Amino acid sequence: MKYVSTRNKNIFCGAAEAIVAGIAPDGGLYTPEDIPLFKDGDIANLCALSYPERAAFIMSLYLEDFSARELSSFAASAYKAESFDTTRIIELKKMSDRDYLLELWHGPTAAFKDMALQILPHLLTASLEKTKEKRTACILVATSGDTGKAALEGFADVDHTKIVVFYPSDGVSAVQKLQMVSQTGKNVGVCAVNGNFDDAQNGVKAIFADEKIRDRLNENSMLLSSANSINWGRLVPQIVYYVSAYCELVNRGEIKSGEAVNICVPTGNFGNILAAYFAFRMGLPVGRFICASNQNDVLAEFFTDTGYYNANRPFYNTASPSMDILVSSNLERLLFYVSGGNSDLVAGCMKNLKDKGEYMVWGDARKTLKSLFSGGSASEEDSAKTIRQIYDGCGILCDPHTAVAVHVANKYREETSDQTKTIIASTASPFKFCKSVLEALGIKTGNDGPELFEVLKNKTGQQPPESLQRLKSAEVRFTGSVSKSNMGDALFELLDI
Ligand SMILES: *Cc1c(COP(=O)(O)O)cnc(C)c1O
Repeated sequence: MKYVSTRNKNIFCGAAEAIVAGIAPDGGLYTPEDIPLFKDGDIANLCALSYPERAAFIMSLYLEDFSARELSSFAASAYKAESFDTTRIIELKKMSDRDYLLELWHGPTAAFKDMALQILPHLLTASLEKTKEKRTACILVATSGDTGKAALEGFADVDHTKIVVFYPSDGVSAVQKLQMVSQTGKNVGVCAVNGNFDDAQNGVKAIFADEKIRDRLNENSMLLSSANSINWGRLVPQIVYYVSAYCELVNRGEIKSGEAVNICVPTGNFGNILAAYFAFRMGLPVGRFICASNQNDVLAEFFTDTGYYNANRPFYNTASPSMDILVSSNLERLLFYVSGGNSDLVAGCMKNLKDKGEYMVWGDARKTLKSLFSGGSASEEDSAKTIRQIYDGCGILCDPHTAVAVHVANKYREETSDQTKTIIASTASPFKFCKSVLEALGIKTGNDGPELFEVLKNKTGQQPPESLQRLKSAEVRFTGSVSKSNMGDALFELLDI
């Protein structure tokens, strides 16, 4: 299978090379030129398998450089009971006759990013070997909160890798920050960037594009790689849980085999919902994708019939920081597919985005988008109200990101009277966002942080995840911060070169 750059189909490579590189040399994203299809009976067969077995099978359709044995062993060590607090790996909770919450945060860092970042280190180290790469992979991450910790946890003390994480100083929750700055491991580094997530992400993209930085790393026998969802190795494991959730619904008799479901995802960088789109293109029966935004509603506007992507707008820090994003990287991959693989069209859009902060999608591509995707947004008030409603209504506690999705899914149903059963992605443990959740439940709190775990637990009777409990006694290791123009120097310092 060929992985091509979204901006130029003449730039291509195999799966292992795409995973090592993270991003294509022209700044495009490596993506499969053709999406593999499930054969008749595949989905039925998957229904009978465990989560790691489903993962191995689905990944084998994309990662031809890897043997079935390798993928089975990677999946078995990534998705195991010691790392996840449920043997099922994901949980599917029924909220109403038609809505199911797909809880993706039962892994070691209590966010859905674990679903991919527990397995990416296996894929990446194997890819280094397969491509005969002798240098150390330096994984550079810009995080809106959850990717950073999940990547640190996945790569800590993994041979032949180093990992450096940049997080926005004003844009992560107290618990998210503490999770990162207390990370243990010999090969890890963490630094704050004065600014928001887009600043951190742009800074990281600039480092990737900087020849001088690459040269200096090369002299020290290092190369850059990425654990952000621009890396194909992040996306492919995410396809698995949508197929898996569908199988669970069939197994439980909630839907008939072949029945279409809708999928609603709280969206930031567009990785998670894009994985659902891949599952659909492979043959999973999906009616509509509902893309949920918070107050930073650039995607909601794009999908609400306009085809107009406009990043020139105020940036808001919200209670769902992992969705506080104006430049949504993975939308580029969707544009590639809905335009029939037209990399010139994608390159044009991305140039306009870079030069003017906007682009417009026309014609058939726009029609295809409209036929599959709906968009909507939730204000801070909507999201807080939804946390309370779900708790009062069905005793389920959800975090502010998930609440955004539930609100948008409800609004979509009201507006369209589409009665299709809906899988709503639940992306983080509510205990990562205690302050917001408590306030939504009507409880005034003081400072945010692990001291609020007890308060939320006492109020709701729910247990904080073990890994978060441990933060109470965690030691802070990383206190540095830099301006967005000095991230390159900070990188060298953290790598000690
Ligand atoms: C990363 C994240 C999101 C957004 O996911 P994308 O793949 O970037 O769209 C939503 N919710 C939480 C809790 C996250 O950590």
